[in-house]
Amino acid sequence: MSNHALENAAKVLRESRCTIAFTGAGISVESGIPPFRGPGGVWSKYDPAMFEKHYFKRHPDEVWPLLKKIFYDMIGKAEPNPAHYALSELEDHGKLAGIITQNIDGLHQQAGSQQVYEYHGSTRRMQCMDCRLYFDSPTISLDRLPPPCPACGGLLKPDFVFFGEGVSSDVHYEATALAKQADVCLIVGTGGEVMPAGRIPYIVKNRGGTLIEINLYDTGYSYSTSDYYLQGKAGTRLPELVREVLG
Ligand SMILES: [Zn+2]
Repeated sequence: MSNHALENAAKVLRESRCTIAFTGAGISVESGIPPFRGPGGVWSKYDPAMFEKHYFKRHPDEVWPLLKKIFYDMIGKAEPNPAHYALSELEDHGKLAGIITQNIDGLHQQAGSQQVYEYHGSTRRMQCMDCRLYFDSPTISLDRLPPPCPACGGLLKPDFVFFGEGVSSDVHYEATALAKQADVCLIVGTGGEVMPAGRIPYIVKNRGGTLIEINLYDTGYSYSTSDYYLQGKAGTRLPELVREVLG
């Protein structure tokens, strides 16, 4: 089945007017970033309650060492893998309008992708809870925790969505507007369990678009919503597909 599906999916991508990619944890697993959900995931080792916004504000001394360990020591050292580069290449050739990602690792940008909508924010920025200014994470020393805001000495929080926090309305609006223009959505490494991000592929589908899914394991999209399901590792299947598209 797979070669036929691969060729057909490639044909759809070649003929597409506007393709978007919707990505999740599965695309970064091969970069050494464990998924958050599921067995062996980050939330099986650390208590998610620590990453609840109000708990963080009350107990920054307790939470910041964990933030450093999980999100800066571990994720910060990860490198993009062939799946990230394949999407970047697709965009370079004018065949990808943008990536809507649920990942906070910044690996799409590191691979060279330009139009990236970070639905759940990013570890690459921090925001001061007091003066509200934003800072690029690499400019903030984590030798002393919690790191003080360079402007006011206040509490810095990584600029990704904590529990008890909504997604930014700006990124939600922009991602939804992009999805409404798309006629193809490439789903990579996600089953879309987290709402509202998980609705993105349905926006494309409900407007008559085509869904191409690449996942290692079956998801809620696989046999109901996806038009083409290429099962396997993102780092293998996505470069195969992109080679087929670009020839
Ligand atoms: Zn500040």
